Amino acid sequence: MSLHLRSLLDEIRGELAFKYIAIAKSLMDKGYDVISFGAGQPDIPTPDHIIEAAKASLDRRFTGYTETAGILKLREAIADYLNERYGASVSPDEIIVTTGAKTAIFVAIASYINPGDEVIVIDPSYPAYSEAAKLLGGVPKYLTLKFDRLRGFEIDLEKLESMITKRTKIIAFNNPHNPTGAVFPPRVVDELMRIAEKHKLIILSDEIYDNFIYDNAPFKSVSQISGWKDRAILINGFSKTFSMTGWRLGYVVARRDVIEKMIRVAVNVYSCATSFAQEAAISALKGDWTPSRKMIELFRRRRDVVYEELNKVEGFEVWKPLGAFYIYPNVSKILKRINMTVEEFVDYLIDKQRVIVLPGSAFSEISGGDYIRLSYSISEEKIREGVRRIREAINELLSRGS
Ligand code: PLP
Repeated sequence: MSLHLRSLLDEIRGELAFKYIAIAKSLMDKGYDVISFGAGQPDIPTPDHIIEAAKASLDRRFTGYTETAGILKLREAIADYLNERYGASVSPDEIIVTTGAKTAIFVAIASYINPGDEVIVIDPSYPAYSEAAKLLGGVPKYLTLKFDRLRGFEIDLEKLESMITKRTKIIAFNNPHNPTGAVFPPRVVDELMRIAEKHKLIILSDEIYDNFIYDNAPFKSVSQISGWKDRAILINGFSKTFSMTGWRLGYVVARRDVIEKMIRVAVNVYSCATSFAQEAAISALKGDWTPSRKMIELFRRRRDVVYEELNKVEGFEVWKPLGAFYIYPNVSKILKRINMTVEEFVDYLIDKQRVIVLPGSAFSEISGGDYIRLSYSISEEKIREGVRRIREAINELLSRGS
């Protein structure tokens, strides 16, 4: 019997990262010694003072619905963060707290897209922008990043501008970037805003990794540009900086009149974010940042290790990332030699070596077949052992072919 599901659902991709997290867990539950480079979340627990604040909130029985936009004190804390760090000129009534940055992305895209409207998505990409656009009847248009082993991943701005049509509404921009670890330079942010102004578009700027920046790489938030709210929407959240992925807290920042309309989407999708999580998030922003700083320094060291180790793998072309906690080697040369697709290679690594990496196709249907993504959210020891196993797998495959 037909269940009358929208046929469009067949075109919506899931988030493969979650599939591989489940595989890792089921193998670990069976007692296998698994090394997983799959998770897009810090392996360090949420800092104690944030957990204590949530407990205190529960003890006070702060357990009801809140305002859809989020409790005022939290929006004040978010505004203070953005204003102190970026000079963003944000007021609390320009913010909606959401159930994770992912919901913020959905609310933002749902507020702009009419059926048939186009969203330019940087390829590869965190999947939520294109899939939200599709769910809402929009059409993603992909701009593939240029890759050079020394220069890293770059946006071809001329090409981007040439892709703009009358139906283009949004450019989805993520900086620092998942999955490549790129931190796009300030010049790119300025240019994107210029393009947005010229063509009357909106830049959806997802800056959820804004604290994961290494080697003093120059970073510019869209919110540092004067008058930015006329052309941009800012997305950020608590998941990464404070290791709060399961708390489901993010936010969207936009001009007040835009927020007033967006609230209509938010209230119909999730009513409000979890009450006691919101109170705890005030402690995250206003409390001691030392645990977050230490965690980010730890990630920098791990980045050095994973880069050094992957560089030794035959046939991998690796660029040293400057942000987030991912590395995205180009493995096309080795795939050719072993005559496998990236998915087959990833499955082989799981079956034979119990190592989990994500195929680039989780982030791109266009260029993803040439890449794998590794999250270095595991200990240095595990990173070394994991890459050793990858090398061993490749040696096995090469010797099989010879
Ligand atoms: N944006 C990017 C670029 C991400 O990588 C992620 C999570 O991996 C999110 C948004 C979603 O964050 P949240 O867990 O707050 O929904």
